[in-house]
Amino acid sequence: MTEPSSISGEWVKRTIKDFIATSLLNTMEDKTGEPAWDQVLVGFASGADPLWQQYKEYVGAFHWTPWEVFNQHLPEENVSAEQLTVISWVLPQRKTVRDANKKEKRFPAEEWARIRVYGERCNMALRHHLVNRLEAQGHPALAPMMVPNWTIVKSARFSYASSWSERHAAHAAGLGTFGLCDGLITEKGKAMRTGSVVAKLSIDPTPRPYADHHAYCLFYTDGTCGKCIDRCPARAITEAGHDKEKCRQHLTLSRKHVQEAYGFEGYGCGLCQVKVPCESMIPVKKARIALEKGELPPPPPPIA
Ligand code: SF4
Ligand code: SF4
Repeated sequence: MTEPSSISGEWVKRTIKDFIATSLLNTMEDKTGEPAWDQVLVGFASGADPLWQQYKEYVGAFHWTPWEVFNQHLPEENVSAEQLTVISWVLPQRKTVRDANKKEKRFPAEEWARIRVYGERCNMALRHHLVNRLEAQGHPALAPMMVPNWTIVKSARFSYASSWSERHAAHAAGLGTFGLCDGLITEKGKAMRTGSVVAKLSIDPTPRPYADHHAYCLFYTDGTCGKCIDRCPARAITEAGHDKEKCRQHLTLSRKHVQEAYGFEGYGCGLCQVKVPCESMIPVKKARIALEKGELPPPPPPIA
């Protein structure tokens, strides 16, 4: 079949969904033969969205805008921010994987650890695949998580932070808002992984169905819940938020457990992502109904 010469948002969504449906890398790598993923949500954000600059100002100078990362690696394209689209996707955890992790109290279930390793390997392959497909159509592209100078740096404000955040890209692309534990709550919940690609491509941005970056978390919207606090074995979540350093130390401990208990190299935790109201849905009823009805909040005031 002849490929379309001009790429639409629907073409991009189909390319991503087809990969998840057919890739041999979409596997748990265990005897069940089950896939790592069976659904995907896709959103788009403009490279000129003011949110990118706001992220940079909040996180630090090392945090890239889409234009910065694109221009560093593909300078010959000489693009403006307006010519770029960020394609972001969310891969929700399957119910069997969530149910397995619900039973755990300290370290991840084997299924969850497998997703962290083999599900992310598939996610990485999806980034590659989408870049290749876009380039074959004449749209230069890159995956910020795969460029050689992507890095994590120590940060006074956040303990550590990276030069590109998949969760923040998903937030910009209308796919979710942040919870007390720092996870991104999407319409399929917080138990998920994300990915993104920046492309020289014009696609209408996905409208953000929220005005506030915490709109889907019960704790921030009405002061209730806090269930993720009790789920964390490392006491890394409090009413003040998520302590990344404590979380990181616990993830390091989990490596030994995964090797000894399950017999492969891996790590993970995600206990705060399951057995909580935001596990597989938006728990804030008003926000959930607004999304179902396609209602949008009033636009935010212009940035001074
Ligand atoms: S468990 Fe409750 S408090 Fe924690 S992120 Fe989810 S909705 Fe917010
Ligand atoms: S905050 Fe970190 S250590 Fe705590 S439950 Fe979540 S992933 Fe695990």
